[in-house]
Amino acid sequence: MAETKSVKKKESSKLPTPFEVSMMQVEKAAKMLKVPSDILNFLKVPQRILRLEFPVIMDSGKIQMFKGYRVQHNNVCGPFKGGIRYHPLVGMEEVKALASWMTWKCAVAELPFGGGKGGVVCDPKAMSIKELERMTRRFTKELANNIGPDVDIPAPDVNTNPQVMAWIQDTYNTHHYNNQTGVVTGKPVEIGGSLGRNEATGRGGFFVINHAILKGHLKGISQIKGTSFAVQGFGNVGSNFAKIAFDEGAKIIAISQVEGGIYNPEGLDPHKVEKHIAKTGTILNYKDAKNIDNTALLATKCDVLVAAALENAIRGRIAKRIKASVVLELANGPTTPKSDAILKERGITVIPDILANAGGVTVSYFEWVQNLNHDSWTEKEVNEKLYFRMTKAYDGVFVNAKKYKTDLRTGAFIMAIDRVVKTLTLKGFYP
Ligand code: GLU
Repeated sequence: MAETKSVKKKESSKLPTPFEVSMMQVEKAAKMLKVPSDILNFLKVPQRILRLEFPVIMDSGKIQMFKGYRVQHNNVCGPFKGGIRYHPLVGMEEVKALASWMTWKCAVAELPFGGGKGGVVCDPKAMSIKELERMTRRFTKELANNIGPDVDIPAPDVNTNPQVMAWIQDTYNTHHYNNQTGVVTGKPVEIGGSLGRNEATGRGGFFVINHAILKGHLKGISQIKGTSFAVQGFGNVGSNFAKIAFDEGAKIIAISQVEGGIYNPEGLDPHKVEKHIAKTGTILNYKDAKNIDNTALLATKCDVLVAAALENAIRGRIAKRIKASVVLELANGPTTPKSDAILKERGITVIPDILANAGGVTVSYFEWVQNLNHDSWTEKEVNEKLYFRMTKAYDGVFVNAKKYKTDLRTGAFIMAIDRVVKTLTLKGFYP
């Protein structure tokens, strides 16, 4: 992913924005479902958008202004739900798309949530921990009247973690003179977080691919043992997926991060790779592996390509060069519509994001249920419930894809939109 700014700009100017992509996906499935156009108009757009500009006192003593967003896409099925990301390139169009995908993801997993998403434009890697805390608390203060356990429940996303959730929870409760644990999920276990939440997105993705394999749905792959994976992105999601799959016998032959990747056709131990990164600060120059660039990782000869980085990672010419027979989307929106069409034409199965990465929000739901009941479950209980939900979601998506003679992505959108439209029809509209 070591691209120059100009290349990125040139490519991205040709691409539809993530929000346009989300609208195209919704329109395609809604058409197949014959959703009336007035209902579709409601489903496509966010119900509420918050755009915040707020000051933060930096360590230097100077005040710096930050931009933050919270998009509340749809709450027909329950409170808005979705993560908050910290990234220098966060933008409104992206957050709108991510919020929309949360609506459909929660519906695929049959969770009593709608969809939302937030973001702050910042470079967390260039900020001190105290600056991050002050920025998080100030952002939360601005959001405090628009979130809550029954209103909108944030969670971790790119570059945010349990500590950030703890600051949000504390700030929200300070503001409201309250003690609500269910206002955020993905928080530390000590303050109401759920066991298994940290690994949940990766684990859920593993359950889905393993189930698809066991069902005999993936051509040429009969068991997880020995199946080869190339993993793009080694953050929370990619690293947990790689470790869980490796522990179950999968062969992880390539892994990449922002600065590049490593490759060994005999297999890599992701636990050891993680230690190497902690020690050296980079994934590169790992013993017994060859350094590769991001394009080479995507084009690695393997059974399954795991897209666990950012949006639009599979774009441009790369779709024609992918040699995997399956793409597992653990990031949100990693494949552009053009690339999606190329992969389909080439007979490559794409297991779509709103199904494959729903494990995170599913365990967020478990966390919220535990919070509302002042309860805590064992990790075994959490993982068993996650397995049940993820495999059920996969089966539902597969049945819809077959019924409508379409791909798994459209099958997932059909299943999700159908659920939201049915709920909406029962509730009706406030006149
Ligand atoms: N950020 C995660 C996602 O995109 C988790 C959201 C949540 O747990 O609310 O699915």
